[in-house]
Amino acid sequence: MGDDPLLLGQRVVAILETGQRTATYKLAALRALIDHCVENLPAQSSDTLTVPIPDLAARVLDSYWPQIRPFEGRELRQMNGKKARIIDATRRLWVAAGQPRRSVDVVKLRAPDEYQRAIDDITMCLAQQPLYRLQRLPGADGEDAFLYDDSFLHDKVSRKVLEEHYFSIVLKPGVAHGLARLSGLLRPALEIMWVDDVRRMNKFLEDGVPDIAGHLFGRTRQALAAVREPFKDAFGPYCFYCQAGLPAGSPIDHVLPWSLVGIDGLANLVLACRRCNGDKSGSVPAVGLVHRVLDRDRQVLEAIADDIQWPVQHDRVVAAARGIYRGQPAGVPTWAGYRRIQRLDVAFPPGWPTSPEPG
Ligand SMILES: [Zn+2]
Repeated sequence: MGDDPLLLGQRVVAILETGQRTATYKLAALRALIDHCVENLPAQSSDTLTVPIPDLAARVLDSYWPQIRPFEGRELRQMNGKKARIIDATRRLWVAAGQPRRSVDVVKLRAPDEYQRAIDDITMCLAQQPLYRLQRLPGADGEDAFLYDDSFLHDKVSRKVLEEHYFSIVLKPGVAHGLARLSGLLRPALEIMWVDDVRRMNKFLEDGVPDIAGHLFGRTRQALAAVREPFKDAFGPYCFYCQAGLPAGSPIDHVLPWSLVGIDGLANLVLACRRCNGDKSGSVPAVGLVHRVLDRDRQVLEAIADDIQWPVQHDRVVAAARGIYRGQPAGVPTWAGYRRIQRLDVAFPPGWPTSPEPG
């Protein structure tokens, strides 16, 4: 089953569609799991993958970070019950760090103790709730564990037991490759479900609903504007893809598309014209484009990062690019520029994409 992504996808969708969720935690946990797989893809498609739960916790924290800011003056509920442990841990960190507008990566450097406390809290909660329940359909027993062995997890699992399992879950053979391949389908689906859940859990959103999706996942549209001027100064006011001169308010493009993997770091961002940005949309970029974006002067990016308090995430882009390309079938079309398609050649040089391109 691990080597059949379609079946894997169907089972994932089935667990998400069964019954009403009482919290968005399962969605956050699953998205974290998919992103982890893309960025840590094992060499062989049938390999298992050990996933540290604190790594998932960091990704989950990253997801909720922009979502805890008030929406029209109100805090959004992300669950029906009273104890919102993950949201509370996220909010505690946000308050302890002085309610910053900046990214959680910056807070991690500035308030490392508070950050670690949040990760610890979220790790425990993930193990006791969404990771324990993710694969359990109502009325079924533990036999349904198709993603990872969850027999040691339960709603009161202790730190000691987690320690004995190295605070990790182990994905079954083929699951990591399967989830990575399905990323482009599952991530947008998860966002739609997430938005639906938040609407349901916040009754005031039902009438005359404003753009709640933009609030939950809209970093792309709002905060990214901070990148525009520094990028124009550093790289010139030109489209990264076609070199056209850019008017004010031109788009900021994610080279590895947001729909495949949510990397907002400067290393994954470029200035683009509307024509290229619209044409590219959620396509997998051609390998050459990823080389070019990773080839930009890292010191320049670091300086911008310091200046606007924004992470670079160069290594994440490298790892995610490797994961995305390895997950594609050979010969798949990739986007090489406005209305230009290039077939993917999967024969990457060793160490790709960190090794320099010949010529
Ligand atoms: Zn362009």
